[in-house]
Amino acid sequence: MASIFTKIIQGEIPSYKVAEDEKHFAFLDINPNAKGHTLVVPKKEENKIFDLSEEEYSDLMSFSYRVAKALEKAITCKRIGMSVVGLEVPHVHVHLVPLNAMEDIQFTKKEKLTNEEFISLAEEISKHFE
Ligand code: AMP
Repeated sequence: MASIFTKIIQGEIPSYKVAEDEKHFAFLDINPNAKGHTLVVPKKEENKIFDLSEEEYSDLMSFSYRVAKALEKAITCKRIGMSVVGLEVPHVHVHLVPLNAMEDIQFTKKEKLTNEEFISLAEEISKHFE
């Protein structure tokens, strides 16, 4: 069965899309640690990050780098943090989280955003994606 992220990539489930290329898809996390918390997903469905080939892993990191650069321009924060967990969704994804404090990367404190806030954040980040 297709993962929830594959369904998002295929447009069966809505998302706040930030960026896309042939092999990757980036969108806002629906339960964000902080404003701008973005997930970067390889379109190829693989459970664990280190089951990717070295080339797929490098491609994912290069794409994440470009998304992080856009986040740095779009969101006021001290730095962009990066984390890979995967305990909830078994489809590889990189969390890119704008950080102001250590707790922003701890996945305990969550930010409540309105639909309009999600839309405007996704637009702002994608505007800076190169
Ligand atoms: P983990 O698998 O532990 O790395 O966490 C999965 C992440 O995916 C969590 O931060 C969720 O909030 C996020 N998530 C789950 N479903 C969706 C969705 N439909 N749209 C956006 N983010 C999601």
